[in-house]
Amino acid sequence: MLEQILTEHPEVEIVQIQFNYADYLSASVQSKKVYEVCRKFNKPILVMEPVKGGGLVNLPNEAKKMYDELSQNVSLASYAVRFAASFDGMYKVLSGMSNFEQLKDNVDYMKDFVPLNDKEMETVLKVGELLRRMGGIPCTACRYCVDGCPMNISIPDLFSCYNTKVQFQDWNAGYYYNVHTQNGHGKASDCIKCGKCEKICPQHLEIRNLLTKVSETFE
Ligand code: SF4
Ligand code: SF4
Repeated sequence: MLEQILTEHPEVEIVQIQFNYADYLSASVQSKKVYEVCRKFNKPILVMEPVKGGGLVNLPNEAKKMYDELSQNVSLASYAVRFAASFDGMYKVLSGMSNFEQLKDNVDYMKDFVPLNDKEMETVLKVGELLRRMGGIPCTACRYCVDGCPMNISIPDLFSCYNTKVQFQDWNAGYYYNVHTQNGHGKASDCIKCGKCEKICPQHLEIRNLLTKVSETFE
């Protein structure tokens, strides 16, 4: 979609995208893919949600431990904001700050900005992977189930929307759910329970039951 927009509208001067390390490889938000389209069209990028509405500060202990092994003297927010700012073409990272302490912290690590080094980048991406695996539906987004669905339900994308909502209380999840249920793609409640998807799912997910949970959450 973004590729089509930028092809048809070369006058677009700048693109604002949701970009953070938890959504970088997410099947629904697709931060990495959207970023690559912006770069292909050589557009400067504005980043929103670099800390995922605060979700990347309230981390589980396992993730905190991984950051502690890097350093105990920097904030968790700093890894999230510096991750976004470390990519070429980022014009501004719009980091929401709620109080003076957060403002001071932000200025401390951004005034003489240093991109994440290799070790930091590796850890940040590992934490992102950990977060994607935790708590939600353990779909790996292999997409084997998608082609055979008679209702053309974008199953892994809807699962990803569900995960991002339950794990991060992401205010944007409903928006992405609507995106993935447009243009001929069925909603979770359109599932006719034929079971074709479950026969092919390598994770043996109870997709029909899970789609019921998804529809109760979003519809
Ligand atoms: S059970 Fe539902 S989601 Fe799975 S293939 Fe059939 S209609 Fe599609
Ligand atoms: S086949 Fe299973 S693991 Fe793969 S995308 Fe579909 S639901 Fe997810």
